[in-house]
Amino acid sequence: MTKDSTLGRTGGASPRFGLHVSVAGGLDRIFARGEALACGTVQIFSHSSRSWDFSLPDPDAVSAYSRARSASSFSDVFIHASYLINMASDDPAIAGRSIETLEKELATADLLGANGLVLHPGSARGGERSGAVLRAASRIREVLDRLPQGRTPLLLENTAGAGSMLGATPEEMSSLYSAIDRPLRTGLCLDSCHLFASGFDLSDSASCREIVSRFCQNIPGGQPSLWHINDALFPRGSGKDRHAGLGEGHIGLDALGHLVSAAAAAGLPMILETPKGEGEAADRLNMRRLYSLAGLPVPERISSDV
Ligand SMILES: [Zn+2]
Ligand SMILES: [Zn+2]
Repeated sequence: MTKDSTLGRTGGASPRFGLHVSVAGGLDRIFARGEALACGTVQIFSHSSRSWDFSLPDPDAVSAYSRARSASSFSDVFIHASYLINMASDDPAIAGRSIETLEKELATADLLGANGLVLHPGSARGGERSGAVLRAASRIREVLDRLPQGRTPLLLENTAGAGSMLGATPEEMSSLYSAIDRPLRTGLCLDSCHLFASGFDLSDSASCREIVSRFCQNIPGGQPSLWHINDALFPRGSGKDRHAGLGEGHIGLDALGHLVSAAAAAGLPMILETPKGEGEAADRLNMRRLYSLAGLPVPERISSDV
């Protein structure tokens, strides 16, 4: 397999569909967990996403992970950064912790050879937005520059547009990218639920293409590095970041199908962050729907609910 370090893309036969999976029991477990669900990629939190304190994985954990990865049928792993990080904060204490935590997240992602680290751009917390974009950008650049040998692309994710959250519009994402000014180390993660919640109409494939290309204006290669495919629990323009299972929300299978078939044709990885419920039934159902939306046969191992 070949790896393009600037885009975090890996060549390979299995479709690059997957789920956000738990790291319970050890980082090495994620590959078996993903394989059982017919994943060609997975996303994880490298530590508790709601705690500031965490340590880098120890060498034994990293070797167990690497062994499991080599033995696995897939090797793409994306990491979602902690929700506590707010690179745009006007509170010096939060800003300091955010910078420190993002640096640790990136160092962890490098240790694990991750394909990308997903980060929400941050919140203006009621303050002026353009100043917040510049604050976030200069701190993100500072962190990237502290790790000059860093290999993991930082993927900024579009947001649902609630309140002061930055990054719901193509214009704001573009200003953020230009201000960070590290095009080889940054990329984009687009989330279908967030696009819809922030008001974008996904009902026809031409408008989907236009929305994606507006978000990708400043992005090398003109494509997101990763898709989060989620349905939305609330109607279009709600601003609410609440995901639903595919076909069980207000976006619906037809509209999700426009995004999925375009992303699959471009070979882009897609991660589901859909509600899990009891056991694996919901994950299996959503994976089946993702395969079908991409026009691919559903693998035998997820063809039933158990
Ligand atoms: Zn997402
Ligand atoms: Zn979300």
